[in-house]
This record gives sequence, C-alpha cells and structure tokens, in this order.
Amino acid sequence: MDRSKKIVKTSIVGIIVNIVLAAFKAFVGLVSGSVAVILDAVNNLSDVLSSAITIVGTKLSTKKPDKKHPYGHGRVEYITSAIISFIVLITGVLSLKESIGKIVEPHKAEYNIVSIIVIVSAIAAKIAVGIYFKNSGKKLNAQALIASGTDAMSDALLSAGTLVAVIVNMTMHWTIEGYIGVIISAFIIKTGVEILKDTFDSIIGERADTELTDKIKAKLCEYEDVYGCYDLTLHNYGPEQIIGSAHIEVPDDMRADKIHRLTRKMSADIYGEFGIVLTIGVYAVNKSDEAEKVKAYLMKEALSHPGVLQIHGFYLDTENKSVTFDLVTDFKADADGICEKITDAMEKEFPQYTYHAVLDSDYSD
Ligand SMILES: [Zn+2]
Repeated sequence: MDRSKKIVKTSIVGIIVNIVLAAFKAFVGLVSGSVAVILDAVNNLSDVLSSAITIVGTKLSTKKPDKKHPYGHGRVEYITSAIISFIVLITGVLSLKESIGKIVEPHKAEYNIVSIIVIVSAIAAKIAVGIYFKNSGKKLNAQALIASGTDAMSDALLSAGTLVAVIVNMTMHWTIEGYIGVIISAFIIKTGVEILKDTFDSIIGERADTELTDKIKAKLCEYEDVYGCYDLTLHNYGPEQIIGSAHIEVPDDMRADKIHRLTRKMSADIYGEFGIVLTIGVYAVNKSDEAEKVKAYLMKEALSHPGVLQIHGFYLDTENKSVTFDLVTDFKADADGICEKITDAMEKEFPQYTYHAVLDSDYSD
C-alpha cells in the first residue's frame, strides 16, 4: 500500500470511531434525557470533519503534475494540516470562552453515573485514536495526521478535565469545572499554535535534514575524480517530491564527455537511492604549485574571520591572472564586509591576480 492510501485508511478509521462514539453518546443522551450528553455528540462530528479534510487533502496532493503546477500538488498536504491546526486552535478558544463563562456564572450542572460512563468511554476512545493518528503520522511523515492526533488528544484532555470536575462536584460539591477548563483550554491553544508553526515552517521552506544532506554529500564524493561536493540545495514540493542541486569539484582537464557520463550517473544514482531529482554543476580544480600556494593562503586568511564556514570552488586562471572562489558564511555574518577584507588581504599578498568571490548561502550542513 502506498503512503497516500495509508493516510486515507488511517483517516477512515478515525471517521468510523468518531461516528460510533457520536451515535453512542446520542443514544445514551436520548435514553437518559441528558441534553449535555447529546450536545457532546456534536463535538465528535468536528473530528469527523478533520479526518474528512485529511482525506480530501491527500487525494488532491496526489494529483499528477500539470502545466500550471509542474512540481505536482504535494504541498496541498501542508495546507491541510494548517486547516486542522486552525480547528485545534478554534477548539481551544471556544472552550476557553465557555470555561470563563462557567467561572463568571457557575450553573448547577446535574451529573449522573450515565454521564460518567459516557465521558470515560469517550476519553478511552479519543486516546486510542490520538495515539494511532500520531504514530501513523510520524511513520508516514504526514503532518495532517499528527495534527488530527493532537486534536483527538486535546478532546481527551478536555473530557478528562470534565471528569475530574464531575467527581469533585459529586463528592465535595465544589464547582471547579470552569477553572479546570481554563487551564486545559490554554494548553490546547498552546498546542494549536505549535503545530500551526510547524506547518508554516514547512510552507516557508526549512533547512534540509542534516542526516539526509550528509548522506547525499558522502555519496557524491564516492565517485572517481570528484574532489569535493558543495552547495547542496534541496527544495520540497510536499513530503515526497524533492528536487535540488549540488556542485562537485573535478580536475580542470576532464573532458566534457567524461563529465557528462559522471554527472548523469550521479543524478541517476541519487534518484534511485533517495528519490531526489538532483542537478549537478561543476567546478574545475587546477593543481599547480602556484595554485596550491595561493589557495592555502586564501584558506588561512578566510577561516581567520569568524562567520566564515567554508571556501570552495577555488580556481586560479593563469591566462587571465584571476582567482575565483566561493565564500560560505553564517547567515548572521556580514558577508560583504568579510569578503572585502579577504580580497584586500589577498591583493596585498598576491597583487598579480584579480579576485572574484561568489557569496554562497549556507543552504545545508
Ligand atoms: Zn559554491
């Protein structure tokens, strides 16, 4: 079964559990004549809604690329989880409002053994659904499922709060439902904001996972005549659609036909192993004594500046008397200022060359 089918299956289980729970509550409510229990059944329908949104979102995200969306529709998943995060947030805000109302104006609620049975079974079912959703979500790297799992856990927490309030009310005749409600609502709002933030981070574009970029770089450096691998960038269009680029250093006398074979093989191997479409660019490396000498000085000079992470793509062009190199700096560093200082130092030591630096972003570890 592929990933999207598993997400849909998990969501369907969620829908069934919530419908059964809603029906059970409605039945108990009707038989016992408790309006509160009947109304509680409505809450389960909001969870049916988040599972339904997950299914629709998953179906939309697997749509094939088209002319207008050539990168596919995988990012629809992030929108789905943003919507579910909003549902969690709204649940929190509404229950906060309700709880404050209960503090301001405590009303005498009548509880009985029937409502306790309903609450306990609801908590058990919600915890089971929550764990199931979160585990599947982590396994399938599906934020929408993790968000739905959080939603279910929030419901369980709210019900648990109600249960504590009911027991305290029955045994000690204190009305504390409002206060417990405020604490739990605040917690739910905090959780909602956190998962919303995670979702927005995915939409904005995050630093690629270090474990993945390390593996890709190590793989690219395994090929013959590859001196180094730099500037690895990865862009994702949904959890399963990643494209990117990287630069490799090769000897400057390597012919185009050999470069062609090498880079094609690299791209094919990376696609085969990681499912990533990687474009490979080339830096030439010349290994004369003069080049080594200038490079060694540049390295020492550059790395003496705090904020400089890496120098690569060094090339000494003896014909045009020029030196090119790429400078990777920390995002917080003043890249232009550092670059100027380095270039000044180089011009002083080796005035026979002109220097051309490219400022690279620190895209990946
Ligand atoms: Zn570069």
